[in-house]
Amino acid sequence: MSSKLPLTIPIGCNETPTSYASRLAAINCVSARLLGQDFLFSFQSIVNGEHNEIRRVAELGGVAATPLIEHAVVKTEDGFLLRGQQLTKATIRRARVVACPFCLTEDVHNTGLPASLAVHGRSEWQVASIRTCRLHNSSLVTFAEFLQPGTLHDFSRNVAPLVSDISKMKKEAVPRKPSGLETYMLDRLDGHAPHPFLDNLPFYAAAWTTEIVGAVMEFGKKVKLDALTDDQRQRAGQVGFEFMRDGGTGLEHCMSELKRDHSYNKGRASSDGPQAVYGKLYMTFAQGLQGPHYDPVREVMREHILSNFALGPDDEVFGKPVGTRRLHSIRTAAKTYNMHQKRLRKLVLAECGEQHSGKADRDILFGPDMAERIYLRESSLMTLKSTETYLNAPRPLASLMSDAGVIRRHAVGDGTADRYLKSELDQLLAALYAKAVPVSETRPGMFSVPEAARRANCTVVEIIRLIRDGILEKVEHIAGRKSGVLDLIVSSAEVRERTRLPELAGVLPLEAAKLLRTNQDVVKKLIKLGAIDTITQHHPAKRNLTTVVPLAEIERFKHQHISLFALARERCIGLPKLKRWLQSQGVKPAFDGDVGATFYRRSELK
Ligand SMILES: [Zn+2]
Repeated sequence: MSSKLPLTIPIGCNETPTSYASRLAAINCVSARLLGQDFLFSFQSIVNGEHNEIRRVAELGGVAATPLIEHAVVKTEDGFLLRGQQLTKATIRRARVVACPFCLTEDVHNTGLPASLAVHGRSEWQVASIRTCRLHNSSLVTFAEFLQPGTLHDFSRNVAPLVSDISKMKKEAVPRKPSGLETYMLDRLDGHAPHPFLDNLPFYAAAWTTEIVGAVMEFGKKVKLDALTDDQRQRAGQVGFEFMRDGGTGLEHCMSELKRDHSYNKGRASSDGPQAVYGKLYMTFAQGLQGPHYDPVREVMREHILSNFALGPDDEVFGKPVGTRRLHSIRTAAKTYNMHQKRLRKLVLAECGEQHSGKADRDILFGPDMAERIYLRESSLMTLKSTETYLNAPRPLASLMSDAGVIRRHAVGDGTADRYLKSELDQLLAALYAKAVPVSETRPGMFSVPEAARRANCTVVEIIRLIRDGILEKVEHIAGRKSGVLDLIVSSAEVRERTRLPELAGVLPLEAAKLLRTNQDVVKKLIKLGAIDTITQHHPAKRNLTTVVPLAEIERFKHQHISLFALARERCIGLPKLKRWLQSQGVKPAFDGDVGATFYRRSELK
């Protein structure tokens, strides 16, 4: 076993074992690979972070192995580990060497070694997304790139040619503060992890996610991520971290902004979907970034999408079927239920107008329950016109039935005409035909409802009520024809009977004249004089207002009066003689004026 080399070198701050091996070789005037060959260690194993090989180099350099092991980039089965943080081939710098020229200047200052030996590589410079030195607020500068396999990782050899003119490299550096993402990553390498959502993602995934969010927000959702420069990516890390520092909430916030600012192409459904609305933010996670490491990001996006888009079982989000629909828009509900979009919009706005006023149909979102409820209600509602057809009750029949309350109007929201419930119409038809007997032809005395109404001097609504309530005994329809009101046949006589109003509470003037043994004209005149009281009532059959003389009133009149004619017959005296005699006795006729007959008050006759 060999021990310490004659010429050694101290470990630098955050120095990687490859940098250290490279410098140890350089101070002994060989390449790192040659040093390995001479002292029986494999430089590739150092590059791969193998601890035993790193310990061997530490021994040769006479330094502690622990700091070197801590800053080793360790190759694993599926990538790399640096200070416990996962990286991938794409997120680690291999064929390119970057450094902070100010850090390198300090290396020379602090060690007193020749520049080519003093400068050393920091482990954080291996991370592709770290592009700024936070000690010097300076961008990292590329010292070498497109390295060939034989020179990879040999820090001293790769950097040495340029350190002699470090001031030139300083000019290339751009003064800037580290982005939020860079600060987060440096902190996370140091073991501080105050952002739970990002912390739960692998290191590289947290970085990539943040940069994608930032790139889309800074450079537009059609951004070509591969075409961004280092500086643009650094900027993306800054912008992206403003959202991702808040984890899932921040990601959703970013998505809400993209959706708010999305301009839709009128009429093109494809411009409404998540791909169109979120652009590269969606596409990158849908297609580019496979594997479970990005699943937490996809899960947040998926949830947000399902809560903000009207997606159905036939749709997919990140290649997974949506399954149960959570939301409908006016557009999807109209399509699903085959309803008219404008009418549906009216109905939805009638229920929850305030929160949706002014929104486009695709942006008015509501639960499938509500869509179903509106559909069921709507599908059982009919306009007056379709009700006329459905009941076979042509104008104005249905309208009369509606006014009379035989069929009920239902209001269904502002700006829409009243409707009729199909179920209620069915109920009515069932009641109308409950007792209807099929016959082969219309028999004498049987008529359609309108004709029976005309003949019985009543209204169609009265007949419909009588049929509906089971009061009419004779209800028929021609066999095979029972489409509605017009196919019903009823007996006009029975209708007349059933619709007859209360009987007269007395007699007509003609009848009263017979009972008073006089003529109709006299009775009419007596009525006019107020000598006979009458009442007015509807004729039970004809329904016109009729003057009726109560029988009691006739009896009263007969009891109090007697005509000259009747008195003459009673006393067997001639009319002229009796009249003269009464005059001589001072008995005057009961009524002044021309009554058409002469009556005397019985009380005045002795
Ligand atoms: Zn620096």
